[in-house]
Amino acid sequence: MKVSELGEFGLIDLLAKMAGGVQDKQLLIGIGDDAAAWKGDASIQLATVDSFIQGVHFPTGIAPWPELGWKALAVNLSDIAAMGGIPRYALVSLALPPQTEVNDVTALYTGMLELAKKHNVTIVGGDISNAPLVVISITVLGNSPKNQILTRSSAKPGELVAVTGHLGAAAAGLEMLNKKLKFDPPATTRFRQAFFKPTPRITEGQLLLEQGVKTAIDISDGLVADLNQICKASRVGARIDTDRVPVEPKVLAGFGDKALELALTGGEDYELLFTAGAEIIDKVKKATSCPVTVIGEITAGAGVTVVDRQGNPVDLGKAGWEHFTRR
Ligand SMILES: [Mg+2]
Repeated sequence: MKVSELGEFGLIDLLAKMAGGVQDKQLLIGIGDDAAAWKGDASIQLATVDSFIQGVHFPTGIAPWPELGWKALAVNLSDIAAMGGIPRYALVSLALPPQTEVNDVTALYTGMLELAKKHNVTIVGGDISNAPLVVISITVLGNSPKNQILTRSSAKPGELVAVTGHLGAAAAGLEMLNKKLKFDPPATTRFRQAFFKPTPRITEGQLLLEQGVKTAIDISDGLVADLNQICKASRVGARIDTDRVPVEPKVLAGFGDKALELALTGGEDYELLFTAGAEIIDKVKKATSCPVTVIGEITAGAGVTVVDRQGNPVDLGKAGWEHFTRR
């Protein structure tokens, strides 16, 4: 059945049923009234929004709907993670062409709800409108019960720069899909998962706060570009040592010389990039099973310098994602 046949209200009822039935003591009104309502508390509140546009953020026509739903929510949860917060509620705004299959929209919700349930996030509202292209816009609200947050603006010269997980697999996934590259099944699965189903580092973000980290960002645009955001906000510089960057081993095996570039500038890995003193980073490493790797240092000055094993600067050109100019 097409969306146009079911109609806006029919579709809303269907999606509301999928998203409903969640037990949440603070939630007073979820989907179905003019606005959602919940009882807040005295903690710091967080809000973030991201839009996914067909043909811009995902390929036209070949988008796997469940993965699209997962990813559209994941990028928002990752922003809450980068603040050290707990995501709580989501508002989902969908623009859909009338010929969209209802099954595709429910598949989108299935992927979204799979991730939402993992993190006790409740979809409490949204809207549906008619448009020539698919646009998925999600707002996530969260809080920080510890009454502290991670910011981009608190990095200090002399602090170390560290990152969670491994980098480059999401960009490898995009390359694989765009260029129809072939890899062995484990690598193919890893690259696809990394690109379509990133894991927001929510637990790790809270753990960073608990261990005394003050500065963090999630890697959406690329390691170098996102570290540059910290540098700008904190009015400092940074150095990355290429041989310390934790490139995903399957990317190294599959992409050879290009692997480092994918890890440095590819983006969409949704790992956390943070700065802190050596003692704090040691405490973080001991407190988590997630890999944490020191990759460089915050310096006085401005901008990000990337140096190779011999200490020579590596020229990356205009590294990282810049809206309106690349891809
Ligand atoms: Mg972010």
